[in-house]
Amino acid sequence: MNQTKTINTILIANRGEIASRVIRTCRKMGIRSVAVFSDADADAPFVAEADVAVHIGESAVAASYLDQDKIIGTAKRTGADAIHPGYGFLSENVGFAKRCVEEGIIFIGPNPEAIDAMGSKSKAKALMESHDVPTVPGYKGKDQSLETLSAAAKDIGFPVLLKATAGGGGKGMRIVHEESGVEKAIEAAKRESKSAFGDDELIVEKYIASGRHIEFQIFGDQHGNAIHILERECTIQRRYQKVIEESPSPVLDEGLRDAMGSAAVRAAKALNYDNAGTVEFIFDDKSKEYYFLEVNTRLQVEHPVTEEITGLDLVQMQIESAQGLALSLTQSDIYGKGYAIECRLYAEDAANDFLPVTGRIVTFNIPEVDGLRVDTGIHAGSDISVFYDPMIAKLIVWDTNRSSAHRKMQYVLKNLTCQGITTNQEFLLHLMEHPEFQAGNYNTHFIEEHVDLTAFSNKEESAVHLTCLASCIYDWNKRENSRKLLRSMPSGWRNNFNDYQRETYLIGDEEIEVMYRYRNGAFQIPGKEGDETVQLISADGNGVTLLKDGLRSSFVITSAGTERYVQNEDIGLITLVKKERFPIKEAEKVKGGYEAPMPSQIIKVLVKEGQAVKSGDGLVVLSSMKMENTIEAAEDGIVEAIYAEDGGNVEAGFLLLKMGNC
Ligand code: ADP
Ligand code: ADP
Ligand code: MG
Repeated sequence: MNQTKTINTILIANRGEIASRVIRTCRKMGIRSVAVFSDADADAPFVAEADVAVHIGESAVAASYLDQDKIIGTAKRTGADAIHPGYGFLSENVGFAKRCVEEGIIFIGPNPEAIDAMGSKSKAKALMESHDVPTVPGYKGKDQSLETLSAAAKDIGFPVLLKATAGGGGKGMRIVHEESGVEKAIEAAKRESKSAFGDDELIVEKYIASGRHIEFQIFGDQHGNAIHILERECTIQRRYQKVIEESPSPVLDEGLRDAMGSAAVRAAKALNYDNAGTVEFIFDDKSKEYYFLEVNTRLQVEHPVTEEITGLDLVQMQIESAQGLALSLTQSDIYGKGYAIECRLYAEDAANDFLPVTGRIVTFNIPEVDGLRVDTGIHAGSDISVFYDPMIAKLIVWDTNRSSAHRKMQYVLKNLTCQGITTNQEFLLHLMEHPEFQAGNYNTHFIEEHVDLTAFSNKEESAVHLTCLASCIYDWNKRENSRKLLRSMPSGWRNNFNDYQRETYLIGDEEIEVMYRYRNGAFQIPGKEGDETVQLISADGNGVTLLKDGLRSSFVITSAGTERYVQNEDIGLITLVKKERFPIKEAEKVKGGYEAPMPSQIIKVLVKEGQAVKSGDGLVVLSSMKMENTIEAAEDGIVEAIYAEDGGNVEAGFLLLKMGNC
């Protein structure tokens, strides 16, 4: 039917790890790759890796990665015959896909009609229902009045889930547990949806209380063939976003896999699907029923899990399908071998409501482990900025079975060093070590129900002490090296030669004091039964190795501002602040002041100066990376002064407004 085309040059309309991922396959296929990049990404690895790289604008996505004119213009200028959109950005933008076709550029993704049909959650559900794909019971009508939506929620029965029809990435979603909260939730979901997607239409769904997110990779070609390439279980989520993905799913037997896989293929056929996509289902743990959630009409973040168990290169298959080649595989050719799991390493603070953090990654070292694949867009020295997603890397391991792969992932998480900013590395390790996770007993609430977010990273006192000591000895060694010219002065020189040197560290709010003295080539540490001895085996700019009770321990150490990151394979990562350098931030806080909790853009100031507010009222709506956050009044009061302005960009700690009478 249609002619095959040859692709010689691909422009990648994306950044970070997925740009690097696409470039890798281009090189393998002998295809010339073109990267586009913003100001903030000038030094990013993908820019250096591409055959051609073109600067297209400022860091804000609207001025670069979302600027269709610039991207199409760059494709023409560089002679690109195809564009790979990656995920996010323009990947599911039907206008962009159509424009590529009009401009004679191949869009590496499904046909625009398929994207369009799945762009709206309400239309998508209607189409799936007509093709015998089970969907979650709910309301998806045009009438969007508060009365109708509230009435629909009552009809469905609580809990219900409100979703932005145009939504994605977990934005604009709200669980409503009871009737009393429904109107406020509808208004909030509408506002969030309007600001994120420019559209405030909602659907209302029955909330599956004990659900698992199980999705199927689908693939189609331009000749009417469609297959599924097995499942990925992505149930471990926070903020409705995936953190860990694995395959095969611990709950699917062959029968269920076939049934769900066939439903996924029916979904693909309903769309005349002709590239890579993902059909997401919510699986009810109690009833074993499964329901369609959505089709993501693009390559998925977690696609490496599928690649690792099948040996397929999904990007290559995407390129081949886009050239008009028929799928070389049929359903019966597809089988998975062994087991794969992916952990998403994020710059975020699990102990602080998973708020994203920004800053520089100073140290980034990946352990060498057979079967480990790391897809990342950063290197040591890279900044995680407010402009883009805070994902640092995807860690993927393969092994012959689930428990071996889990063990390997734990090893990787213990031995990877990513220092300079707060990450979720320790949190991921905690999840991997959790017996219920290992047993496969989990649902989408696993994190909130099974993890104490204030305590998961707590360490034993002796481990904390040894970590602080390692930091002291690291500094001691530095002083010692710079003192070399003044050899005559004894180390740690004191009026009283026998005094211990002291150092106080802060770990969170806790103070830890370390005492040590250097005698006869070793460090003496006062213990309950006299001095203990610790030897320094080696030290360099990256850390120290100590010997205590015959046991060697290595610590990787990075300093960033007032913070110091100290990591040991056994103890894990501890963030220290030296006492005298601790900023007196608490004392500087303005009474009644409300600060931005993280670097953000101000979406809307909801109050005026002089206005009286009640505790719980919204004050300012902020947006950062992929999240919206409303700052609420902690107590009743009068707004005294407002420093935030709609649309402004602010740093963490910026004083947004000040309340009086409180
Ligand atoms: P899902 O697979 O359910 O869409 P993801 O977390 O993979 O969930 O993606 C959510 C949305 O955010 C998608 O639109 C995806 O394309 C986008 N996204 C996810 N991670 C990133 C990232 N690191 N950079 C840019 N966009 C991302
Ligand atoms: P998005 O487009 O933002 O990815 P989805 O519809 O895919 O939105 O849902 C995201 C996540 O929210 C799912 O992975 C699942 O954890 C949860 N979820 C979605 N719908 C339901 C539902 N009806 N009941 C329970 N959980 C749901
Ligand atoms: Mg989804």
